[in-house]
Amino acid sequence: MIRVGFDWLARGSCSHPEVMTIGGGSLCAVEFPSLVGVIRHPERGVFLFDTGYDPAFIVATRPFPERFYRWTTPVRIGAAEAWQAWLAAHDIADGDIAGTIISHFHGDHVAGIAHLADRPVYCARAGLEALRRGGRIARVRRGMLDALVPPAVDAQARFFEDCPARPLPSAFAPFTEGRDILGDGSLLAVELPGHCAGHWGLALTTETGQPVLLAADAVWSGRSIAERRPPPRLTTALLGDTRRYRETLDLLSRAKEGNGGLAILPSHCLASAKAFRGDDER
Ligand SMILES: [Zn+2]
Repeated sequence: MIRVGFDWLARGSCSHPEVMTIGGGSLCAVEFPSLVGVIRHPERGVFLFDTGYDPAFIVATRPFPERFYRWTTPVRIGAAEAWQAWLAAHDIADGDIAGTIISHFHGDHVAGIAHLADRPVYCARAGLEALRRGGRIARVRRGMLDALVPPAVDAQARFFEDCPARPLPSAFAPFTEGRDILGDGSLLAVELPGHCAGHWGLALTTETGQPVLLAADAVWSGRSIAERRPPPRLTTALLGDTRRYRETLDLLSRAKEGNGGLAILPSHCLASAKAFRGDDER
C-alpha cells in the first residue's frame, strides 16, 4: 500500500453510561471523544475520515424531535470545535483538504460535513440512502440528523460500493478485501456491517509502515475487541443488526489476535487513541 501521513484527533465528545457500550460495563457515564482521521496522501492532498462534532450539531438538535438526540446523548462541543479553530489547532489548511471519507451517517460522524460539501465525499450508498429515508422521528431514532448533510453532499458522493475491489495486505487478515477509493491502493474501505446501514471502516498504512484499520463504530472501545465483549443487545438492536454486529466483532478480535502490528482504532475509544499516539496517560 502507498503510505500516508495519519493523525487521529478528537473533535468534541459525548457521554453515555458505560453499560450501554460494553457488556458488563458500569452504570456511570463515561466520556467518549469523537475522533477524526487526518490522512495526508503524498500526492492527492488531505482527506478527513469523518468530521467529528461541530457547532452545527447544536443547531441541528435545537428543534424537536431532533432535540431528543441531544438529551439522550449529552455532548461537549466548545469553541475549540469551531471549524477554523479546530483546523488551525492541528495545522490543517482548509484548502488542502481534497475530500472526506464518511464511515456512516450518524450525527457525531458527519456534523462538520457542510464545511466540505464542495468536495468529493466518499461513503456508502446504503448509508446515504438510510440518511435520506423516512420521517424526522424515524431518523432521529436511528441517530441520523439529515439537516447536518446538505444536498450538495449527494451530488459529491462517490460510493464505496462502486469502487474496485482490491485484496488487503495479510496484516489485515481475516479481512481480505477492500474498496479502492482513490484508485491507487492507498486507502481501502472495508465494510464492517452491523452498527447501522452502510457502516464501513478504512484500511491504510502509515508513513512508518504501520497498518491501521479505522473501525468507526464497529465497537465503542478497544476492550470490546480484546475481551470479545460486545455491547448489550439492547444497544446494537436499536441502531443496527446484532447478529452482523457480533460477526464483525469476531473478525476484529481475530485480526487483533493474529496481527500484532495492526492498530485497530474505534472512533470513540480514548485508550486506543492514546496507545496509538504513544501517550502513556489513560
Ligand atoms: Zn455510529
